[in-house]
Amino acid sequence: MYGKIKDHLTAELQSIKKAGLYKTERIITSPQSVEIEVEGKTALNFCANNYLGLSNSNRVISAAKRAMDTHGFGMSSVRFICGTQDLHKSLETAVSKWFKTDDAILYAACFDANGGVFEPLFSENDAIISDVLNHASIIDGIRLCRAQRYRYANADMNDLETKLKETQAYRFRIIVTDGVFSMDGNLAPMDKICQLAEKYDALVMVDECHSAGVVGKTGRGVSEFFDVYGKIDIYTGTFGKAFGGGIGGFIAGRREIIDWLRQRSRPYLFSNSIPPAVVGASLEVFEILAESDELHTRLTKNVEYFRKKMIAAGFDVKPTQSAICVVMLYDAKLSQDFAAQMFDEGIYVTGFYFPVVAQGQARIRVQLSAAHNKMQIDKCIDAFVRTGKKLGVVKDAVERDRLNGLQSQLSINKINDSH
Ligand SMILES: *Cc1c(COP(=O)(O)O)cnc(C)c1O
Repeated sequence: MYGKIKDHLTAELQSIKKAGLYKTERIITSPQSVEIEVEGKTALNFCANNYLGLSNSNRVISAAKRAMDTHGFGMSSVRFICGTQDLHKSLETAVSKWFKTDDAILYAACFDANGGVFEPLFSENDAIISDVLNHASIIDGIRLCRAQRYRYANADMNDLETKLKETQAYRFRIIVTDGVFSMDGNLAPMDKICQLAEKYDALVMVDECHSAGVVGKTGRGVSEFFDVYGKIDIYTGTFGKAFGGGIGGFIAGRREIIDWLRQRSRPYLFSNSIPPAVVGASLEVFEILAESDELHTRLTKNVEYFRKKMIAAGFDVKPTQSAICVVMLYDAKLSQDFAAQMFDEGIYVTGFYFPVVAQGQARIRVQLSAAHNKMQIDKCIDAFVRTGKKLGVVKDAVERDRLNGLQSQLSINKINDSH
């Protein structure tokens, strides 16, 4: 009898709409790319996770079609019944090669990988120590498991050490962190985390969703950036961001861990195999990235260029070593007005505010891509400057040049770009 809950939901929906927390979706009618068609307008996209620009790559699309021709459309099976093709094994090999691990296992999404990783490995005799800013799927995965739960402040190594000291009596312990935190773009200090893990005999798990393909000298992720190869026990990640942006997730790591997950991980055992088109396309992504670092190099240059010009324009940009650039505005309404005016200028960015980020920490999150060219980035920056001036976030050009002039006179002997 649909009655009581209907009234309840109607009231709840009204209340989140009133609070400005109701999410709407802009309708895109083109493929995902830098230049997209949104609600009848052309816009430059600066809010996709399309870090390497592969979401609409001809090579990737052709590989998807080829895989459909040779391996069909759907598997109609989980992996262990009759859902494992040669392609699935090749992709698992490609993933483990990328992270330099013993083995890897595929999931329908990283949400499932994080949902299915803890429960088979840890029980009430064990402790999971998790960064407070970890992704929702890690939080859910921990909830599905009987281990004791501990949280430490974001990237706070003193707090992590305190939690490691508190949990010495447990059988197994694991430290769990995102590689790049999605709302700030900051990196987890994996070198220090691995040192603490060694000191206190804990395992280490990192979620590489926003770091794989992006972070490190050639984009191999946090182990390349911090040179901690061999010290991380479990990597989770997605094909839905830098690696083509389709769908699918994975776990890479120690042989026995992966083997055990194949036997016991519930989203792996009880959910369908990834379809051949997605597997074939993802394999092509690893081919492309094995051939050259060109896309990653371009991404790095784009991030540096954007940050430098935005800081020079007077914006408060958070430090980052990822492709997530956060422009701080602090005020919730301002962040929404700002994003709306940017969209009117043909630039698609997203404003975030409480409860997605802390109270009084509203911001615009800009995500750079290897597919952006200099002209498009300049267009984005110009729109930021115009909107920033209109909304009183940055000073106008004359005033800024005057201040910059004063600044450079003051620091004439200090040729030191701290950014
Ligand atoms: C995007 C994301 C996920 C979810 O990945 P899907 O493959 O889209 O399910 C998990 N963890 C983090 C940190 C993410 O950013």
